[in-house]
Amino acid sequence: GLNCIYTRREKEGGVQHQMGRAFVYVIIGGGVAAGYAAHEFVQAGVSSGELCIISEEPVAPYERPALSKGYLLPEAPARLPSFHCCVGTNGERLAPKWYNENGIELILGTRVKSADVRRKTLLTATGETISYKYLIVATGARHTVDLPTSELTPGLKALKLEEFGVNTLDAPNVCYLRDVADADRLVDVMQSRSGGQAVVIGGGYIGMECAASLVINNLNVTMVFPEAQCMARLFTPKIAAFYEEFYQSKGVKFVKGTVLTSFDFNSDGKVCAVNLRDGSKLPADMVVVGIGIRPNTSLFEGQLTMEKGGIKVNGKMQSSNSSVYAIGDVAAFPVKIVGETRRLEHVDSARRAARHVVSAIIEPEKAGEFDYLPFFYSRVFTLSWQFYGDNAGEVVHFGNFSGNTFGAYWMNKSHLVGSFLEGGTKEQYEALAQATRLKPKIEDFAELESQGLEYAFNV
Ligand code: FAD
Ligand code: NDP
Repeated sequence: GLNCIYTRREKEGGVQHQMGRAFVYVIIGGGVAAGYAAHEFVQAGVSSGELCIISEEPVAPYERPALSKGYLLPEAPARLPSFHCCVGTNGERLAPKWYNENGIELILGTRVKSADVRRKTLLTATGETISYKYLIVATGARHTVDLPTSELTPGLKALKLEEFGVNTLDAPNVCYLRDVADADRLVDVMQSRSGGQAVVIGGGYIGMECAASLVINNLNVTMVFPEAQCMARLFTPKIAAFYEEFYQSKGVKFVKGTVLTSFDFNSDGKVCAVNLRDGSKLPADMVVVGIGIRPNTSLFEGQLTMEKGGIKVNGKMQSSNSSVYAIGDVAAFPVKIVGETRRLEHVDSARRAARHVVSAIIEPEKAGEFDYLPFFYSRVFTLSWQFYGDNAGEVVHFGNFSGNTFGAYWMNKSHLVGSFLEGGTKEQYEALAQATRLKPKIEDFAELESQGLEYAFNV
């Protein structure tokens, strides 16, 4: 099989046997996980010339969450180099110079085209073969709409409209948000349509954070999503109702339980309206699409064991090939506290796994199993929430839902497994995280409800 692949590539490019470079450690992907791993490698005393990072993006690793928050502010927006890793955890800011000074080979703007885990080599789009002793896959994920039309659900096929000879993905006023290039386009479109109508497709993280930013930038926003509520995979209906009412108070309209079926275009190829399955039409000066992501696993299909759409790893972040590790959005790892292998698409998970994998590679005996308490958060308008653990089982809400401090606990088989808090202080969030980690048995749900946040301080 492998020989066939090689022969074919030789015919295609004739560059397969170009002599390449060899490194002890190679990271594919230059996102959040790569940035934190690089920092950890330097802390661990990696020698000059041992580590190489190959990234498709043209910039050094940065804190991706900034793209849907500070980057979109109308006044004094965040721009690189201000949010390179690891400023998101109040750490050192690793500008390209830092990689250079530490003898890390940072190959930017270069996609890895193929990987051969048996030979321990990678082939880049520039035709270089790079070999490794240890490989860390940190390729993150891509927009769902990047998938071939055949793999899209009917609701998403409208986004591709290839049957009309128009690819909506290329319409200049349809925006996505994954990297700096996407964010720059979103900013351009948003600023040029000020006062106009924006339609946001998707009620998840991107949808919610972008809708808030669009409002702040003076657009009239309508959110469209298939579920009965926003953030359906995490929020309870009661929590979702709070945010939806808050958004409505800022002028956001919600169209729920439906998907788009097609777009209307101007003669200049711009989308001017969104047609929905329920027959209605929403005028649109711009569209933002946030309908989920797919992990970038394609380099390793058929070479590594996959699970939950990602590369399956053990508690040392090691894949089914002992020289290959995976971290961040692309990795499915055992989440001990939940007792299940999961793929988490959040930044704290990527950062911590990055730190863990370096010690797991360098000191495998000393590094234990990754023991991670899932942590998700978001900030929109003046609001800010945090979530810890697992949102499984029965829910008890607490606090003041008409004020700005409220939350919820999730109980699975009478044990506290998840917690949510809006508007908390640092101490309150820490108490909540600690309580959730302990998984205490809850005898009396009514008592928990009346204690609310206090419970977390008394566990
Ligand atoms: P990424 O940071 O996505 O990095 C992957 C890198 O791999 C990219 O540079 C990509 O170009 C590169 N790559 C992929 N394939 C190849 C290849 N073949 N060759 C070379 N390079 C390749 N999480 C939160 O917890 N809180 C938030 O507030 C939050 N906000 C977010 C806002 C936005 C706009 C987005 C898009 C995500 C946000 N997230 C947030 C999620 C968080 O950013 C991700 O979980 C995190 O970035 C995952 O890190 P990663 O290193 O696995 O992947
Ligand atoms: P999410 O998975 O959060 O949300 C996708 C949303 O789109 C869901 O509500 C989904 O519904 C909905 N949807 C799916 N198909 C359609 C359709 N045809 N029409 C309308 N809506 C549809 O993904 P996002 O795109 O919002 O975010 C991308 C990534 O970025 C995620 O990994 C996320 O974790 C990350 N991110 C994280 C942030 C944070 O942690 N604060 C902030 C921004 C991004 P359903 O649930 O039914 O599939």
